[in-house]
Amino acid sequence: MSHDHDHDNELDPFAARVRALETILTRKGLIDPAAIDVIVDTYETRIGPRNGAKVVAKAWSDPAYADWLRRDATAAIESLSYTGRQGEHMQAVFNTEDTHNLVVCTLCSCYPWSVLGLPPVWYKAPPYRSRAVIDPRGVLEEFGLTLPTTKKIRVWDSTAELRYLVVPMRPDGTEGWSEERLADLVSRDAMIGTALARQPA
Ligand code: FE
Repeated sequence: MSHDHDHDNELDPFAARVRALETILTRKGLIDPAAIDVIVDTYETRIGPRNGAKVVAKAWSDPAYADWLRRDATAAIESLSYTGRQGEHMQAVFNTEDTHNLVVCTLCSCYPWSVLGLPPVWYKAPPYRSRAVIDPRGVLEEFGLTLPTTKKIRVWDSTAELRYLVVPMRPDGTEGWSEERLADLVSRDAMIGTALARQPA
């Protein structure tokens, strides 16, 4: 198709596709754009990585909770009233001295919305999705995280049925801290695995 003139209203291809889909579904009466806006707003402003950070801080503080989280993350997370969308099962993967965990969705952008809110743009981008599996160590270095070569990196590929939450290692020097204070050390990226928990100042 000939296309030799400039536009001043171009959307990137992904946004254009979303816009087209939304238009079609709205015209067919299958979705209500106002309802979609409410859902997006909920995930943008009400549900965010703070939920996940509270889960991690509780696991750091309470060995019984950590054990429950390890065995049945879906239930342990639901007990804090962070319920996912239907059919979403969670698995918590714990970083250790020997192993670092990294989460990706190679197929699309499956992500633990109920504990981390909306996924970052890079999480959905093809370079991250392919390279996290092929060269996780290189990807982490681009995030500014250089791990010792002796540390194993385990990559977890999310699906629509199973989403992962990385539990980073608790930083030294935080003995006796409250859960609230600990949660401030837990970033979204630390729960995806592209960062570690922050060190106490
Ligand atoms: Fe996906």
